[in-house]
Amino acid sequence: MSATFRVLALHAHPDDVEFQCAGTLILLREAGCAVTIATMTPGDCGSAEHDAEAISVIRREEARASAAMIGAEYQCLEFRDLAIFNDDESRRRVTEALRRARPDLILTAPPVDYIVDHEVTSVLVRDACFAAPCPNYTTRQWEPALPLAKIPHLYFVDSLEGRDRDGRPVAADFHVDISRVFPIKREMLSCHASQRNWLIRQHGIDEYLEVQAKWSAHRGAEIGVAHAEGFRQYRGHPYPQDNLLLHLVAQDGLGKRLTATIPG
Ligand SMILES: [Zn+2]
Repeated sequence: MSATFRVLALHAHPDDVEFQCAGTLILLREAGCAVTIATMTPGDCGSAEHDAEAISVIRREEARASAAMIGAEYQCLEFRDLAIFNDDESRRRVTEALRRARPDLILTAPPVDYIVDHEVTSVLVRDACFAAPCPNYTTRQWEPALPLAKIPHLYFVDSLEGRDRDGRPVAADFHVDISRVFPIKREMLSCHASQRNWLIRQHGIDEYLEVQAKWSAHRGAEIGVAHAEGFRQYRGHPYPQDNLLLHLVAQDGLGKRLTATIPG
């Protein structure tokens, strides 16, 4: 019997995961993986009508409902919007979150994106992956979790619309075909009603779900399928080099299905 692989999707704000990698998380759940969705902040700046505390309560609940749709856990690391910094305390907090989730595989924000919260999340998670197995790296918690046995496999999701800060497209290393499960990904994003309604009021159209559909269709067209998600694997020196993610979803990275041989 295969071991249960553990997956952590850790991005900056509630709904980032739903835009960039929820389809792949659905496939990983189908493959028997345990999935945790975590956000750095509760999205406390994502409202013009509620104060920070009130919108945080709403958005934590929306994120929890979205995760529950696929039997995933949800956690918030309780940083605040536009106040995520790459400093000592933050790295220890993210490391503790990794040690508690104990992931074999992590999906996180890309190193370059349109907003600082995404970029700092990316670097904190990258370095927490390195720190989490180090026994001498303490997290200053009352009941700290044990160090990880090894560095997890690390993947970066797409930036918003797959562009860097100068608007240039960033190519994916590989794609995951999510066509079959796209309706569930859309439902997960629909759980974030506070954001969707805000955009409907601001722009007069239901742009929220359309942005998601347009982007997955764009990545899909690159490999000749209806909907896909793009990823880059971080392969810095001591990090795992083999592509566990593709292995678990039994795809070749170009939209073809492989015969499932899950390691374990
Ligand atoms: Zn975000």
